Order: sequence, then structure tokens, then C-alpha cells
Amino acid sequence: MHINCGCGRLAEYEVYDHREPHCHQCMMDAISGKYQVPVRRLEVEETYLENRMGNEKLVSTYNKAPVGCHPTTKWVGEGKEAFQDGITTTLDMLGIKIEGLNE
Ligand SMILES: [Zn+2]
Repeated sequence: MHINCGCGRLAEYEVYDHREPHCHQCMMDAISGKYQVPVRRLEVEETYLENRMGNEKLVSTYNKAPVGCHPTTKWVGEGKEAFQDGITTTLDMLGIKIEGLNE
């Protein structure tokens, strides 16, 4: 899993004070305005670390199968299978491979 720009491409930069993730193209668009905006290049390690944290959260959600936003309510049996199928199907559709889920 990667940090994506709003346009869907892989984010390589943080733009503005609130550190918006942007790909190269959108970063160029953002800085072409008349105001100066801060830009910082994302380090490979940072994207890797954030990816890994995102993956761990996803794997944990997959295994716990929470119902909606109620952390104490969990899917069981067929409901859990359907919940987990939904996650792996979505990942496959998006072309995302996550260790421990669909890889
Ligand atoms: Zn973009």
C-alpha cells in the first residue's frame, strides 16, 4: 500500500503547511501559483514506514472483523467470511498486495 496523491498516483512530496501528499505532477501544479508554498520530498523510508503501519492496521481490522464503527461488535461465521472476502476482493480490484492478506 502506498500514500497516494488526490489524483490517485503515488505521492512523492508533501505540499503546504498541512503537509498534503502530492505526486510530482500535482506538486508542480501546486507551486505554479502566485504564492510560495512549502514543499518537502518524502523519504523512501517514511513512505515505507507509513505503508507498513497502514498494512498492519488493515491486517488487524481484517482479523478482528469489526461491525461498522463498533469496536466491541465483531462479525462471526459467514458474516466474518463475507467481511474478509470484501476486503481481499477490494484489494485485488485496486491491485494492492498485502502480506498476510492476499499475498
Ligand atoms: Zn497527483
